[in-house]
Amino acid sequence: MTDVDVPESHPRYESLLLRHRIEAGVEKGITSEQGLIAQGRGEAFDYLLGERTIPSADAAERAAAAHLLRAERPVISVNGNVAALAPGETVELAEATGADLEVNLFNRTEERMEHIAAHLREHGAEEVLGLEADGRVPGLDHERATVDADGIGRADVVVVPLEDGDRAEALAEIGKTEIVVDLNPLSRSARSATVPVVDNIVRALPNVTDHARELADADAAELDAVVEAFDPEAALAAAEAAIRGQR
Ligand code: ATP
Repeated sequence: MTDVDVPESHPRYESLLLRHRIEAGVEKGITSEQGLIAQGRGEAFDYLLGERTIPSADAAERAAAAHLLRAERPVISVNGNVAALAPGETVELAEATGADLEVNLFNRTEERMEHIAAHLREHGAEEVLGLEADGRVPGLDHERATVDADGIGRADVVVVPLEDGDRAEALAEIGKTEIVVDLNPLSRSARSATVPVVDNIVRALPNVTDHARELADADAAELDAVVEAFDPEAALAAAEAAIRGQR
């Protein structure tokens, strides 16, 4: 099924559209079947958040933009759900911040790696890392640990959308500044992040790009101030309160 099969008048149009993108991703060999489960979990949290970017998520997105602009070697990690849901938005964010793109899969197969890299190139990416697989993240078993030495391996700031908790924790442990996009404020990934962005990836990435464009001419002191003003624990608490209907 494609995007056009959902009538725009449907009250759950946006949500169904995203579901169909994931289904199409599975059909094209981009997204794993486990990706369907992750989508379902995300959808439930998004529903509770009111399917909007809450103010604390907007602040996180601005802090994420400032981190990326300050970084020397920023990398955006792309998995099968990210590639299916927001390929163009991912490429645009990389362009706006000078970040590299690296395919990084929990259920890694060469075929899926190639499909995702090709899909990103179709959406304008010039270079896609991840296929070298010559680096390792310590503390994870062989398959899960694989990264490019020249990409995530030597990155200072990493954007990891929809990441599994073990890997997010392992990346934080080796000192990466981690920007996690995850709709569940209680997930280990969100909790191990330097900047937890509790928002849907389809809203989060374009908003980080907008902030990055706005901050493009900011000097180092201004970027530092944006980074320092952000409090991850307060942002997680605000997201949880929004979900619980306390705000
Ligand atoms: P953890 O170990 O961190 O607690 P997990 O490994 O159990 O999490 P998964 O089931 O792999 O988590 O799902 C990945 C996460 O991505 C979930 O927390 C889900 O809410 C989130 N997620 C799914 N779809 C989206 C989306 N479109 N935008 C943002 N987050 C999403």
